[in-house]
Amino acid sequence: MTTDEPILRIEGIEVLYESTILALRDVSLSVARGQIVVLLGANGAGKSTTLKAASNLARAERGEVVRGRIVYQGRDVTRSAPHLLAQGGLVQVLEGRHCFGQLTVEENLLAGAQPRQVSRRQLLADLESVYAHFPRLKLRRKSLAGYTSGGEQQMIAIGRALMARPQLVLLDEPSMGLAPQIVEEIFEIIHQLNQREGTSFLIAEQNISLALRYAQYGYVLESGRVVSEGSAERLAAPGDLEDFYLAARAG
Ligand code: ATP
Repeated sequence: MTTDEPILRIEGIEVLYESTILALRDVSLSVARGQIVVLLGANGAGKSTTLKAASNLARAERGEVVRGRIVYQGRDVTRSAPHLLAQGGLVQVLEGRHCFGQLTVEENLLAGAQPRQVSRRQLLADLESVYAHFPRLKLRRKSLAGYTSGGEQQMIAIGRALMARPQLVLLDEPSMGLAPQIVEEIFEIIHQLNQREGTSFLIAEQNISLALRYAQYGYVLESGRVVSEGSAERLAAPGDLEDFYLAARAG
């Protein structure tokens, strides 16, 4: 693998659910090492499916990559088991901030370290580093996750992914259902992780202006296809994307 090899390459994938529903058609994209890339698109465009194909979680919903391939760190991982991908540093945070409601915040975070075999000392050090990014979680470490706010649950979901020491995080709609101030806080943390630890991110997001403020590059999906791509600067400029969204909204 050369140093300029992207951390993730998706090459012309097609994804079928239940052998009948074609959710993605010929989707190609790449994430450079240390980059934040966003996937934009309306509901049902195929953003979640793209992320789930990369982490191989689509299979849990009877979805299958029937064409194309997924290359992570130079290796074809199209058929790799999700837990092996997580061990290799590719971790997904699912849409809807799945937390174990009956476990404490800290127990949720510790669950994220499962794919790794690490000493207790290392585990505690990793926990402290997650708390350094999310001081709110440290304050609530003994609370049941089910009783925390939506924003805190999103932080738990991201914090749990961080416990796997990821190199690439696939993040599905982190802003969903959250107040603007909390969303801003979460994106700031993503930015810090990217800058300080070099973690790469592929983020599916409907909040276009916010996502493009933090990302370097973006892809726009429509009906399972990539219809536009470019630097965040280009996509944020008035033009195609604006027209596209206005049309979608009017529709
Ligand atoms: P949203 O923001 O609403 O999640 P999305 O852009 O993430 O939208 P996907 O969830 O990837 O879009 O959906 C893409 C297409 O695949 C849609 O037509 C959807 O109905 C279909 N689809 C998604 N999940 C499944 C599933 N488990 N079984 C069957 N079809 C599915």
